[in-house]
Amino acid sequence: MKITVSVIKADVGGIGGHTRPSDGLIEAVRKVIKSSGDLLIDHYIGYCGDDVHIVMSHTHGVDNQKIHKLAWDAFMAGTQVAKEEGLYGAGQDLLKDSFSGNVKGMGPGVAEMEFEERPNEAFTVFAADKTEPGAFNYPIYRMFVDALSNTGLIVNKSLAAGVKMNIMDVEEGKIAELELWQDKPTIEAALMYPGRYVVDSVTTKDGEPILAASTDRLHNIAGTYVGKDDPICLVRTQKMFPATEEAGSVFNNPHFVAGNTRGSHNMPLMPVKLNSAATINFCIPIVEALVFSMHNGKFTGPFDGFSTPDWDLIREIATKKAMSIRSQGFIHPATLVPSELEYAEGYRARMEVLESKMKPMEGNASSGGKKENYEDPD
Ligand code: 13P
Ligand code: MG
Ligand code: MG
Repeated sequence: MKITVSVIKADVGGIGGHTRPSDGLIEAVRKVIKSSGDLLIDHYIGYCGDDVHIVMSHTHGVDNQKIHKLAWDAFMAGTQVAKEEGLYGAGQDLLKDSFSGNVKGMGPGVAEMEFEERPNEAFTVFAADKTEPGAFNYPIYRMFVDALSNTGLIVNKSLAAGVKMNIMDVEEGKIAELELWQDKPTIEAALMYPGRYVVDSVTTKDGEPILAASTDRLHNIAGTYVGKDDPICLVRTQKMFPATEEAGSVFNNPHFVAGNTRGSHNMPLMPVKLNSAATINFCIPIVEALVFSMHNGKFTGPFDGFSTPDWDLIREIATKKAMSIRSQGFIHPATLVPSELEYAEGYRARMEVLESKMKPMEGNASSGGKKENYEDPD
């Protein structure tokens, strides 16, 4: 049976800041989803920080207008409650006034895939807050390229053959299909800069979908900063795909990602339990693991992937790394480079003052002494 799993998420308001949605907001979203009759086979609604995710199973394929409209309507209803309750950032991620066929490019994040359901279909949704889609570059690399992180890349026939990775240039809105193992260094060069290149999807060599991620950059859509594009990604696990524990363990080394307070700093990505609020300790970026089984499109779960005791240690490591980078305050790389800095207006105003005070230095050699025919030293 062909099933589509669609995960659609949006931030439509938080209690007292960018913390978490209110119970009333979640209820309003749930009410719309529940009223959808037989459009969906099953659904689950939860949140990661101030981002609400709707996980849906159905038979209508990806990019389906009715499914996207349902999620849009649900987020509109959530926005209405957020306004009534005076929540912060009410409707933050809904960048258009009315729905026009597909939520992509309208603010909400989408990760979806259609596949022939296996008898014991297993998948995990990773939902993150206070960061950007490129936050998944490093864990996805560990999952599909780094055998030191994932022994399955050696002993599993399908993974050892290599996968196809679609990498998106989020500045240009272009996508490249790259293949392991021949494109390994090119994939590495792309994943090196998560602000520009992000993994959109991964399939087996013969096109069986394994992973789909949200790749929008909200500020490209809105033209100005409206919040980081807190990403989600959907990974099928077991059998010819990474084992669930191979997919989960790639989050056990909290790496530095862009985002957090004012979307303008680098801090480590901390695995947290389901339905966690964003911390008011400078918004350490967070990620949740929703581990599902599915049969005939019906969900069992989610099991809370980062709830077991071992993850407490990882949280402690993340917190220590967070405090460590925060100890240097606004000095880069604690803050992002100017082009990635959100709330750029305030920064620009400071720089204008600085520029106005800049005077040429007397006796300085003029520019133009650039060495030509430069070659990289071997
Ligand atoms: P969100 O992107 O999660 O809304 O956070 C924005 C922000 O500026 C937090 O300080
Ligand atoms: Mg927010
Ligand atoms: Mg958020």
